[in-house]
Amino acid sequence: MFVDIAKIKIKAGNGGNGAVSFRREKYVAAGGPDGGDGGRGGNIVFQVDDNLATLADFRYKRKYTAPNGENGSGGRKNGRRGEDLIIKVPRGTIIRETESGAVMADMSGDEPFIAAKGGRGGWGNPHFATPTRQVPRFAKNGTPGEEWEVSLELKLLADVGLLGFPNVGKSTLVSVVSQAKPIIANYHFTTITPVLGVVSLGEGSSFVMADIPGLIEGAGDGVGLGHEFLRHVDRCRLLVHIVDAAGSEGRDPIEDFEIINRELEKFDPELAKRPQIVAANKIDLASDEQLERLKNYFEEKGYEYHTMCAPICEGTDELISAVWKKLKELPPIKKYEAEEIPVEMFEKQKDTGFTIRVEDDIYFVEAPWLLKILQRTDLDDYESLQYFQRILISSGIIDALREKGISEGDTVSIYDLEFDFVN
Ligand code: GDP
Ligand code: MG
Repeated sequence: MFVDIAKIKIKAGNGGNGAVSFRREKYVAAGGPDGGDGGRGGNIVFQVDDNLATLADFRYKRKYTAPNGENGSGGRKNGRRGEDLIIKVPRGTIIRETESGAVMADMSGDEPFIAAKGGRGGWGNPHFATPTRQVPRFAKNGTPGEEWEVSLELKLLADVGLLGFPNVGKSTLVSVVSQAKPIIANYHFTTITPVLGVVSLGEGSSFVMADIPGLIEGAGDGVGLGHEFLRHVDRCRLLVHIVDAAGSEGRDPIEDFEIINRELEKFDPELAKRPQIVAANKIDLASDEQLERLKNYFEEKGYEYHTMCAPICEGTDELISAVWKKLKELPPIKKYEAEEIPVEMFEKQKDTGFTIRVEDDIYFVEAPWLLKILQRTDLDDYESLQYFQRILISSGIIDALREKGISEGDTVSIYDLEFDFVN
């Protein structure tokens, strides 16, 4: 079965905790602080692998966790960092944050993408030594690794998509113009997984053609081979719409053509506007009257129209040249831009609470949801800072700090953010 959508959970490693430790020296009760820092947690990284053609692996494994960083230890020994976890995906996979639907990355290129950052290691106690605090008996905990539920969606990268009812000759065309070997058979839906064929025109010119399973009536409503397959033409720059000129299965090619275009329109009006070239196949079986009627219809409608008998390559060279000529005029394959994950989303999680730890007049606040907001807040921006302060109030953190006895000038430490408390 062809799997082209998946939902998985990813969790980067937590940062290791900083250590509280003191040098052991003869005759000295407590030597200087020497606790090491915690190591960074491993990231979750996505990477394209061209040996993969589907998202099937993600049906069996749904949770991906990168290792935590190690805790620091005495003698200023820093904890080892957690290794990154690399998740391989087929080219063209779009990664979205599930709840907001925001695009995190379009895995079309070769650049790896860090989808969840590992937590930072906490500082060991030497960092907290000051002239007035020579024996710091605390260290900082590592920050938690980012955690997301992400949706993966494979949107093939092809210049040209083939449209047409089952059995009109789409797979045959791909097999004669490229090295790809899709299954050709005289029954419907032989093409279950899309096949990409590279069409070479010599002197280094080439384009990618996608053989997509045939559409059926009602596909746009989600009946039968529905949206799953329409999705694959989404990125195509040009569509080649193939009809059976002879109506050899008892259908009317013009009606077929209109049905498919209506399905496209229902699925996505944008897609219906994508340029189409029409190729009437099986001309060996068609009568002159049939061909005349098709030619008149398509030309009247303003379509570029070609005829062919794909199995014997009649007319295919002309079609390929026309496709190439058209592609040169068209914009490049659509890439999805990354979008911001709305900060407000994490505010909804604030019921999950927070903890406050007090050490030597430093108030350590920890809450995974708050960390996500903090990571997305530009503290140099006045509006953003105001927003963050409002959250500290509305979540009850400020009240809780007061209850713990905080006073003016004490330090509040929220992961990487430290500030003096002002009443
Ligand atoms: P698809 O379902 O659109 O991919 O169609 P296929 O490429 O699998 O072709 C369906 C059937 O039509 C196969 O048996 C092909 O051999 C046959 N076929 C394809 N093109 C032609 C053609 O130009 N003339 C004739 N007579 N048969 C064709
Ligand atoms: Mg086929």
